[in-house]
Amino acid sequence: MNIAIIGAGYVGLVSGVCFANIGHNVICVDNNKEKVKRLRAGHVPIYEPGLESILKECVKKGRLKFTDSIKEASKKSSVIFIAVGTPSKANGDADLSYVENVAREIAAVMDSYKLIVEKSTVPAETGKKIERTIKLSLPKKFKKGQKTLLEFDVASNPEFLREGSAVHDFMNPDRIVIGVESKKAENILREIYKPLKAKIVVTNINSAEMIKHASNSFLATKISFINAVSQICNYVGADVLKVAEGMGFDKRIGRSFLDAGVGYGGSCFPKDVDAFIRLSEKSGYDFRLLREVRDINEHQKQSFVKLIEEKLWNLHGKTVGVLGLAFKANTDDMRSAASLDIIAALQKEGAKIKGYDPKGMDNAKKMLKNVVFCQDAYAVARDCDCLLLLTEWDEFRKLNMPKIAQSMRQAMLFDGRNFYDPQEMEDAGFEYFGIGRG
Ligand code: NAD
Repeated sequence: MNIAIIGAGYVGLVSGVCFANIGHNVICVDNNKEKVKRLRAGHVPIYEPGLESILKECVKKGRLKFTDSIKEASKKSSVIFIAVGTPSKANGDADLSYVENVAREIAAVMDSYKLIVEKSTVPAETGKKIERTIKLSLPKKFKKGQKTLLEFDVASNPEFLREGSAVHDFMNPDRIVIGVESKKAENILREIYKPLKAKIVVTNINSAEMIKHASNSFLATKISFINAVSQICNYVGADVLKVAEGMGFDKRIGRSFLDAGVGYGGSCFPKDVDAFIRLSEKSGYDFRLLREVRDINEHQKQSFVKLIEEKLWNLHGKTVGVLGLAFKANTDDMRSAASLDIIAALQKEGAKIKGYDPKGMDNAKKMLKNVVFCQDAYAVARDCDCLLLLTEWDEFRKLNMPKIAQSMRQAMLFDGRNFYDPQEMEDAGFEYFGIGRG
């Protein structure tokens, strides 16, 4: 198949590389010319394990190309995936202007049948809007009154990959969701995904869009649920890790996404929960459960800062070291990372911040002000009044913790991901504070 992917970000680039890897001819489009230039030169602009080597291999085999021209990509492809961003607007709605712009651009250059597939996360009914936009924006020669003379289909194919294991997730999906309104579109998408031998759920476009929103909101709910439980654990002397373990063996519940911590972040959960709340408001339903999920997530960060304040007493003039800035491990993505809010709150109280992240430093430097960025965890800890662990990078497991404790002004460790064993940390010389550890 000849496939175009519009938007070469975390989702578009991974999808493009993986489609090429399973044998398709792929052309990735991005309107960021600098990004395209770098990709053509073999530089991967994001950190995602395994991505670079497959990308280079596919380019070498001639199956993967990059361009900044939708026209060029459209000419070479019969299937066009839209994978541009859908960030939150101030009122929580998904900003669909990038999707609309791309739909218009595709329509303007279409001259044969195309299947246009939305891979971006979008609210229900977006597929219909894309279809209408394309009809309205087709060149005059393809319109006769209200009739459209050029055949095309719109489909929804939401993406469920996780940053940090995106390539693995794309190649080994739990399921592939296909939202279609025609058999032709279904057959094309089935053919594209055939090599993955995955479970395929076929439904209409609105349901496919809802599946994505409902899935992300449900996962966010699991995280907020265990975070709420962690708050009570503190009062009753229970250990939330053991509670999650005991719950997780129940197959109806499952252990994943029951990790208490400083809350979820990233480019998906916060904005997708907001967008789902807004969609439900518009439909006349007050999704109070999701509003609470969001509030619990915010509260989790605030209560972490409160704990630090309580133990450090006055923050003014104190130095706080931060291990991990990215929103989760194995990514360089800083979008809506918990570190941003926590660092801002500590700075507001007058704390000085030192920080380090194995892959997120470049992005962190663009988003954080007045932070001393260090070359490693040891440099962060030196002469600090306390240390925070905010991202669960494997690298931090291998640290010489007694050495770190020795180098600090006060050996206090606030573990925002329940990453370390409390006893081991106490043995290493730390006063240890986790989340909901009793
Ligand atoms: P991103 O910001 O990393 O990438 C979007 C890319 O689109 C950017 O490179 C941007 O330059 C490009 N772009 C914007 N307008 C364009 C245009 N008119 N023409 C060509 N390129 C254009 O975003 P992302 O994280 O990859 O997310 C994309 C979508 O996928 C979002 O809707 C997101 O919710 C969804 N999603 C993301 C993830 C994830 O883990 N990041 C997972 C599943 C779904």
